[in-house]
Amino acid sequence: MKPGPRVHRTPQRAAEVAILFCMSRFIQVAVPLPLRHPLSYRVPDGWPVPRVGSRVLVPVGPRAVTGCVVENNVRSVPVDEDAIKDILKQVDDEALVSPTVMKLALWAADYYLCGPGQTLEAAGPPGGQSGFRMVRHFEITSVGRAFLAEQTLGGASKRTGTIGPRQRLALETLVDTKVGLGQPLLVKRGVPAATLNRLIARGFVRGEHRRVMRHPSEEGGTEHQSSRILTSEQSVVLAGLSATLSNKGFHVALLHGVTGSGKTEIYLRLAVEAQRLGLRVLVLVPEIGLTPAMVRVFRPVFGTRLAIQHSGLSAGERHDQWHQTRAGEVDVVVGTRSAIFAPLENVGLIVVDEEHDASYKQEEIPRYHGRDVAIMRAKQAGALVVLGSATPSLESYSQATRGRYELITLSKRITGQPLPTVKIVDMREEYRERGHEIVLSRLLVTGIERRICKGEQVIVLLNRRGFASAVFCRECASTANCPNCSVSLTVHQVKRRMQCHYCGYWRSLSAHCVLCQGEYVELTGIGTERIEREVRRSCPEARVARMDRDTVARRGAVSALLARFGRLEIDVLVGTQMIAKGHDFPQVTLVGVVSADIGLGIADFRASERTFQLLTQVAGRSGRGKEPGEAIVQTLYPDHYSIYHASHQDYQGFYRDEIAFRKAMRYPPSLALVNLIIRGRTLGAAMRDGALLAEQLRRHAQDEWVLGPAPAALGRLKGEHRVQVLAKGTHRGRLREMVDSALGALPRLGRLITVDIDPVSVR
Ligand code: ADP
Ligand code: ZN
Repeated sequence: MKPGPRVHRTPQRAAEVAILFCMSRFIQVAVPLPLRHPLSYRVPDGWPVPRVGSRVLVPVGPRAVTGCVVENNVRSVPVDEDAIKDILKQVDDEALVSPTVMKLALWAADYYLCGPGQTLEAAGPPGGQSGFRMVRHFEITSVGRAFLAEQTLGGASKRTGTIGPRQRLALETLVDTKVGLGQPLLVKRGVPAATLNRLIARGFVRGEHRRVMRHPSEEGGTEHQSSRILTSEQSVVLAGLSATLSNKGFHVALLHGVTGSGKTEIYLRLAVEAQRLGLRVLVLVPEIGLTPAMVRVFRPVFGTRLAIQHSGLSAGERHDQWHQTRAGEVDVVVGTRSAIFAPLENVGLIVVDEEHDASYKQEEIPRYHGRDVAIMRAKQAGALVVLGSATPSLESYSQATRGRYELITLSKRITGQPLPTVKIVDMREEYRERGHEIVLSRLLVTGIERRICKGEQVIVLLNRRGFASAVFCRECASTANCPNCSVSLTVHQVKRRMQCHYCGYWRSLSAHCVLCQGEYVELTGIGTERIEREVRRSCPEARVARMDRDTVARRGAVSALLARFGRLEIDVLVGTQMIAKGHDFPQVTLVGVVSADIGLGIADFRASERTFQLLTQVAGRSGRGKEPGEAIVQTLYPDHYSIYHASHQDYQGFYRDEIAFRKAMRYPPSLALVNLIIRGRTLGAAMRDGALLAEQLRRHAQDEWVLGPAPAALGRLKGEHRVQVLAKGTHRGRLREMVDSALGALPRLGRLITVDIDPVSVR
């Protein structure tokens, strides 16, 4: 039997089909290809008209592609009717994408200048799985029960005959259960399928297929105390937001709460309030690794009315969670950015936690920003959006200062502890006194030792993985670079490799220069592997672990490592920005930051913002329990304003300096920005195409600025040369129109140009 009917026919369906059928034979289909507009197709005579939001198989050139119907009542088509092809197949009988989600996906395609099929693909059902998992379930019948009783009372009855030991075992197992058992479990207990079939034939057992949910493993426990008393700050904030929520209108609130101020508790209470009002809730977190913590808080309250949506789930789990959400069996969806397209109706509240986080931006097509799509979804649904952060993005904070968003502040930690004190170590002095080989300052080493003696924990951040960031040859003065990308190869001691972090290229580690075979090679720049080794060396008694993309590649590895840290099986956790976010470990009283300025060297207008956020967030992991926290920040630029303000935990101070810089340099949020990257086989070809693009942009410009073409900061990537053109404008809509028109005039270049609206990074 084929499991899982995905298609549910409704009673009115036949009548509706009849009406649709008379109206039109043409439909518009968005296909997941880089085409800015949907394609027209004909519905063959005698076929019902597919619904808007259902999937159809259509021919595109020589291929057959699954697309989504965006319009099914097309009266005339722009081209010769005879040139229009027939659809090949109707995949669904019903609309899988609802009108609300369709509207959002079409808006996103338009706004981000990509294909409607590309955003609808993100909004559609997860691929790979075609149905719910159905398992055969068995229950004992009253006849079976009576028979078993008779058997037990004494000998076989003549009327019904006897049964074999396996049939008897099956009946004895089933008689004790209320709702029966699934086949896999019965088989495990020694009852084969044939036995069950014989019992069914005799009327002793009843069998049926039941839906079995594949629940994500990160289900979360029940450790949350839902009865805890809110602090006075939390109460005031919750009361205000609850009132706004009950007004049921579009509203954006920026919740600027210092680290450890209890923002999650506010999200939870607000979600409960929404459920009470009959509204549904979306909670976005920036990374998969942050979902378990959120789910742990929400699961005890919402149980199975909570679904999880992110790409870390297995195909089966994703299928089930998505379809359960769509079926209305769920009130709260927790997920990463793609969950903003979750098939949830009647959304009244959207929470975007850590709204400043760069991970909300998808760095591949469709290049949408989860937070910004969230705001649009809320606008379309008339919902409340809560953007939460200890370090709001410049974008959101400037909206708040202009009164467009409501600004809500939580200025105190739950525990009443002050924010951690931050000590800055000027590494130039440390080097002068102790030589350039120094990695950990004396202050940091003694700090770590002190914490370990007291049974407390330490986090050490260095936002660069690997052992060393480059190999430099003193004989030929060259650096070992990636043959495909304009970056140096990173040394990974553990794997004994030199590796490119952009394209994956690697070669074995060698003691000689790869160019001249010279013997005097020097490792420059440090990474997390090196820090791990240095901590082990300086504090031999410490239990040290490392968390970066190299150590947590396996599914579930992040939660496993964090759980060990939580159980105090690890004293010092070394890692990249992964360890800086969201986590709440009350025993951590010291956070060390090595090379705090690492991100400032990156040619990107957000370099200071990123640095400030990272330092503030990671320092915020310290002192979240009873003991006060401390952070030790090692840097070569103690006077840089992002480091200075982060060390004083002074968001406003940073905002003032940074917004002045953005205005002076004409960068967002003082205006809108589009980053256009032109790829080419040679630099010359890319520059020529870039010049054509820039010329078209200038032709369509009114008050917009066009900069370039110029080689991009990351000049070569995966074997291609990259050239950049930046377009800036004070009027967002006009800027997008200009870009759209220019691209429309250069169809030949379409495939070579990457368009990034509101880029988060301009490398
Ligand atoms: P933030 O997200 O603002 O950094 P969290 O939401 O992680 O802060 O809260 C910090 C800690 O305080 C968490 O352990 C949380 O469970 C706890 N907490 C939050 N609100 C309360 C409360 N009202 N009473 C006691 N503990 C609370
Ligand atoms: Zn490379």
